[in-house]
Amino acid sequence: MGSSNGTLGECIASGTGIRATCVACRHHRELDLPALAARLGPDHGALHADLVPRLRCAECGSKRIALTMLPPDVPTER
Ligand SMILES: [Zn+2]
Repeated sequence: MGSSNGTLGECIASGTGIRATCVACRHHRELDLPALAARLGPDHGALHADLVPRLRCAECGSKRIALTMLPPDVPTER
């Protein structure tokens, strides 16, 4: 918290990942932020309200998607 991850470009620059989880079927995947930035522009917002309307579950087609920020300083599982 406190860092500025307001846009796709800022997330990419800081190494922050975003995981999208389907509320309906629990399918989840990490968003391809460089691809999104290429399509929507690096100044596009990276907040829930900015991205969720553009997302849809690849498994069940639900548009009820939850986003989880993955800060770069969290150690990955070994
Ligand atoms: Zn789903």
